[in-house]
Amino acid sequence: MRAIVYKGPNEVSVETVPDPRIESPTDAIVRITSAGICGSDLHMYEGRTPAPEDMRFGHENMGVVEQVGGAVNEIHVGDRVVMPFNIACGTCFNCTRGFTSACLVVNPEGVSGGYGYAGMGPYPGGQAEFLRVPFADFNCLKLPGEPGDELEDDFLLLSDVFPTGYHGAELAGVGPGDTVAVFGAGPVGLLAAYSSMLRGAAEVYVIDGIAERLAKAEDIGAIAIDFTRGEPCQQIRKIRGGNPLVRGALRPGEEKMSGVMCGIDAVGYQARRFDNPDKENPIQVIEELVHVVNPTGRIGIVGVYFPEDPGGVDRAAKKGQFTLPLGDIFDKGLSIGMGQTPVKKYNAYLRDLIIAGRAKPSFIVSHRLGLDDAPAAYEKFDSRTDGYTKVVLKPAGGMAAASAGT
Ligand code: NAD
Ligand code: ZN
Ligand code: ZN
Repeated sequence: MRAIVYKGPNEVSVETVPDPRIESPTDAIVRITSAGICGSDLHMYEGRTPAPEDMRFGHENMGVVEQVGGAVNEIHVGDRVVMPFNIACGTCFNCTRGFTSACLVVNPEGVSGGYGYAGMGPYPGGQAEFLRVPFADFNCLKLPGEPGDELEDDFLLLSDVFPTGYHGAELAGVGPGDTVAVFGAGPVGLLAAYSSMLRGAAEVYVIDGIAERLAKAEDIGAIAIDFTRGEPCQQIRKIRGGNPLVRGALRPGEEKMSGVMCGIDAVGYQARRFDNPDKENPIQVIEELVHVVNPTGRIGIVGVYFPEDPGGVDRAAKKGQFTLPLGDIFDKGLSIGMGQTPVKKYNAYLRDLIIAGRAKPSFIVSHRLGLDDAPAAYEKFDSRTDGYTKVVLKPAGGMAAASAGT
């Protein structure tokens, strides 16, 4: 079969590799109809998260079950399915408590497994024609409809970025009437803003420096903040303070709460400096979140921070160590949650919102391409230019329903 293979920093190629096969009776083989390229893939693509040469990328996978092992009982050949990017056994101490992002069984070298990702176990990715899915009964989410129909891309996003955006909102405690600042208008940030609105937020600010991504945030009703025009915290306080309705509702003293109650980091350790976006400051976003989130507020960090970063700005950063404003965090009594998304905690509910027509996350998808286009698409998505917000690969050529809008 054909698959995307990592060849070294800034290079992937399309190669012929052996077809996957059933290795354990709990496996299934899925024919991939859609596979996303993720901002997380770019950390490896850039060589910032060391990945072995010839690793096969792809953790956002969806398709049709082609074959099942003898112990797979609930998923059948022909089923349309989407898989969480986390691979989980379903029965260990962490899985049974809902932390499928920390499965103790699937990765002999760590706590969490996934497809096509450095440090997440021996599982090739799904940017390919076929994928082996371990513990298929647990890891396949069944979907209605037909491959390539109008919900194909919405369902694909259940593999990672929709649940991850939602997880950001969950960690930040977003509820009805809340005020929210989301840093990053990539796929994760846009879907964190979208999820905040699904959860009833009153005001959602989205911060980035890329105009076309900010435009997408405005399209869904968020307030766009361009960090190249000044410190985001000041811009948000000015907008809120300048709103007579917000001001008119304040009792004396409440003007001290002119920031937001919930903050979400959808950027991670490769954050760009506000004053010089050509350079990085790995704690730029966290520092700003601490400024803009009101006392007693909550912060959800879904942008990643790795314990190893060969491209880190200094020696400590290369080991994932940073100086944080803990004094301010303590003073303000902020709560912080972070980590990998346990996709399975959310994917069935989010699927049902899509089915009911109450969520359409595919507004983020900018490009639908064949496997042969992947090397060029990686390059463009990595430079965040030409409107490359989210690329979905269609390995089986199933681009019929999806081709509009490319
Ligand atoms: P992306 O790279 O497309 O988006 C990141 C966005 O952040 C870009 O638009 C960039 O312009 C913007 N940005 C850079 N510096 C900024 C700053 N200082 N302030 C505000 N915005 C800034 O990636 P994505 O696919 O949206 O993923 C975002 C992050 O989420 C990545 O770190 C990714 O690895 C991570 N992620 C985490 C999980 C999880 O399980 N927690 C899952 C998926 C992705
Ligand atoms: Zn992803
Ligand atoms: Zn487990």
